[in-house]
Amino acid sequence: LDEQGLAQLMQRSSAITTEFENVPAAALVTLGSQRPVAPSADAVAICQDRVLEKAHFRLSGVPCAPHAVITAPAELQAVPDELLPGILKTARMGYDGKGQVRVSTRAELQAAWDGLEQAPCVLEALLPLEREISVVLARSSQGEVVSFPVQENLHRQGILAVTQVPAPHVPQALQQQALEAARALAQSMNYVGVLCVEFFVLQDGRLVANEMAPRPHNSGHYTVDACDVSQFDLQVRTLAGLPLVQPTLLAPAVMLNLLGDVWFDAAGAARTPPWADVLSVPGVHLHLYGKLSARKGRKMGHLTVTAGTPEQARERALQACTMLGLPAF
Ligand code: ADP
Ligand code: MG
Repeated sequence: LDEQGLAQLMQRSSAITTEFENVPAAALVTLGSQRPVAPSADAVAICQDRVLEKAHFRLSGVPCAPHAVITAPAELQAVPDELLPGILKTARMGYDGKGQVRVSTRAELQAAWDGLEQAPCVLEALLPLEREISVVLARSSQGEVVSFPVQENLHRQGILAVTQVPAPHVPQALQQQALEAARALAQSMNYVGVLCVEFFVLQDGRLVANEMAPRPHNSGHYTVDACDVSQFDLQVRTLAGLPLVQPTLLAPAVMLNLLGDVWFDAAGAARTPPWADVLSVPGVHLHLYGKLSARKGRKMGHLTVTAGTPEQARERALQACTMLGLPAF
């Protein structure tokens, strides 16, 4: 830990939060000794470690993928057949599909674990996904909870590609179930701040928790353009002890992530994406993060498309996809 850096941060700040789950939890403990810190070190510690996260799902009575913890060769040997084919995920530091390997056989599992330098891992059964959804909520130190509508997410290569709100294909009862599960997970961590819970909807209709992010989440970026309060507003409110209000979705929205791939043409040559074309589509809100170099798979920005109806939002987003060379959804 950079004790001097932490001291400086405390001196300059009246309250401290994080938008990144891989901040060492110990740093938050230090900061929390002298300043309000939310989410707490304990909550971040759970969300940054898949082993603790899975244990928290179980403790909160929220179903998650069948899995095994692998920290030693004996645990790898003892993995039950039901977990293959599966996904081996490092317990810590994974994001955007990094630190994950799909494995079908025990030999592949062994090779994958070796490839991950035998770091502590979780092996999850590969589940038959119907689709993916997420819930972003905010919880105050008094235990008050407000939430955004259920978001429907499409991932490509383990990276979020498209978010649609309202979720076009998710029955009301399932949405309610997701909201309640997310609330229960926040409650049982005594969570303060903005929390995102990612879920899988399985082909048999069951809801399974995937992972939690102790921060504003990519699937909630549309809230800046389409809601009366954004996930970032709520983050500040929870930190400052200001009142929480239930957010209202002002317009149906589709969010498209803009990965570095968009900065290359079909032949692989570098290009500036056709922003003027994209901005000619009504309802487009473009957000570029100012990152200097575009690499494939790197999140460079996103755009939110709002419209009067969900169909029109999708239609407009599809127009933007065509202009940018993104696949349809
Ligand atoms: P990350 O931290 O990289 O977001 P996730 O655990 O959310 O890691 O996995 C990324 C994506 O990989 C998920 O959104 C989903 O599309 C797919 N995935 C992850 N776990 C499973 C699983 N057990 N079964 C099927 N697909 C999965
Ligand atoms: Mg994820």
